[in-house]
Amino acid sequence: MSETTIAPAAPPATRILEITVIGTPAGQGALSNKGGGRMVHSNHEVLLPWRTAITQAATRALGTHQRVRVKKQPNCRACGKPNRTHGVIAGPVAVQIVITVERSEAAAKRGDLWPDNRTTSDVDHHARAVLDALCNASVYPDDGQVVVLETQKVFSITPVPDTLPKPGAVIRVWKIGVPAA
Ligand SMILES: [Zn+2]
Repeated sequence: MSETTIAPAAPPATRILEITVIGTPAGQGALSNKGGGRMVHSNHEVLLPWRTAITQAATRALGTHQRVRVKKQPNCRACGKPNRTHGVIAGPVAVQIVITVERSEAAAKRGDLWPDNRTTSDVDHHARAVLDALCNASVYPDDGQVVVLETQKVFSITPVPDTLPKPGAVIRVWKIGVPAA
């Protein structure tokens, strides 16, 4: 491997999903107390529409539906399937995410090629929002199944593959351990 190349881990895997989502990416991080012990994400006004856009794109692509949870019930109310198996992929999962964020005027003025500051949310927070949205879309029943994760935060002009002309994300999901068909 060349010293100038960053290569993600590449176990044998079968690609299950590839989606492009246009929208305003939001990281999932700090929670704030709304009183009465009710906790919401401090940026939920942008986070929720972003997660919904990802979930809808994934359910459309896979023909899945969101698990309908009823308190203390072990099964999805829509289809009767157990919550713990309510997903397309059982077992280990690899996810690759490229998040294109808005390049601010200040960043453009500085000539920044990468969104390497906190005004665009931390890359791990972006990953968390995407992984939750994929779980909601029944791509896999449990976030804990994700064992390989590569996430990039870029501008449209960043010189890497999979940047988008406007803010959004390219998301790919593999099931690990099955030779490609
Ligand atoms: Zn269901």
